[in-house]
Amino acid sequence: MYDVIIIGGGPAGLTAAIYAARRKLGVLVIAKQEGGQMARAGTVENYPGFEKIGGAELASRMEGQARKHGAEIICGEALGAGGSAGNFAVSTADKKYESKAVIIATGMAYGKLGVGGEDKFTGKGVSFCATCDGPLFAGKDVAVVGGGNAAVETAIFMEKVAREVFLIHGSSRLSGEEALQKKLKKTRLMPDSAVTSISGGKFVESIEVESLKTGEKKTIPVQGVFVHVGMMPETRLARRMGVEVGENGFIRVNEKQETNVGGVFAAGDVTGWMRQMVCAASQGAVAGSSAYSFIEKNRG
Ligand SMILES: Cc1cc2nc3c(=O)[nH]c(=O)nc-3n(C[C@H](O)[C@H](O)[C@H](O)COP(=O)(O)OP(=O)(O)OC[C@H]3O[C@@H](n4cnc5c(N)ncnc54)[C@H](O)[C@@H]3O)c2cc1C
Repeated sequence: MYDVIIIGGGPAGLTAAIYAARRKLGVLVIAKQEGGQMARAGTVENYPGFEKIGGAELASRMEGQARKHGAEIICGEALGAGGSAGNFAVSTADKKYESKAVIIATGMAYGKLGVGGEDKFTGKGVSFCATCDGPLFAGKDVAVVGGGNAAVETAIFMEKVAREVFLIHGSSRLSGEEALQKKLKKTRLMPDSAVTSISGGKFVESIEVESLKTGEKKTIPVQGVFVHVGMMPETRLARRMGVEVGENGFIRVNEKQETNVGGVFAAGDVTGWMRQMVCAASQGAVAGSSAYSFIEKNRG
């Protein structure tokens, strides 16, 4: 039995692992993706101690630090979780793990367009992560859908890889940071527009785009579609464990990162507090320390 199982390997989960493992707890991190959103951030300029560092590099440093202190990190998805204080079980597709405490650091899940072809072509041209899939579209034409930082970052990244990049968004102006927008060079902006369907054979071949001003529809041949239309807190497992979620969809925690379920803590974006790496890391530190106090208090 582990002392603590941490679900999620972003900055919140990895920092919780560093803090818990340094206190000599037996720590298992179950992480669907290495580094979480952090690994998708191109260049990070606001993580203290680093004037400039690649998101993937920061993720790999945090992971290395957690392992160095003794945390075990496995790549996989926690599909089920249950139990009560001192006796929890978390299962992946092929194994069940037990622990005395659980830290939920599951971050945010990608929002979807909800149009025809999106599910069918996910992994066959439709992607939610340019860092992961971008290089597959070298020399091809791609569409990025969304107007925030993630969409703009993806367009900037794909300009270096793809032949043509279309940035399709629903408002008249992009909502991503000005400094990022200035880095766009050859991206073709399509404001006041919405993707209404994605078509193809085995892989994506085209999208249909509707003007939200005139209602005019046109078909644009592309081989890739990167979807960045917002994110929502990933609370499915938490809810299954009886963890309380607020009206805004985020997990309710107190200043010790405790949830309403004894022995279950939550940290990072999934709690909704200023969604930034340094904040996720700080909550992770508190969650790791609170898990230690909980385990010490309940040691038989
Ligand atoms: C493109 C982009 C750029 C960004 N740039 C910056 C920046 O410059 N500076 C900054 O401070 N912040 C930035 N952010 C925000 C920052 O990355 C997040 O605030 C931070 O990563 C949140 O950390 P987290 O650990 O709470 O969650 P996440 O990083 O979202 O990690 C949660 C992880 O848990 C995994 N998970 C979910 N459910 C399960 C499950 N059932 N089993 C196993 N694993 C699961 C998820 O797959 C994910 O990998 C950026 C975000 C994006 C998308």
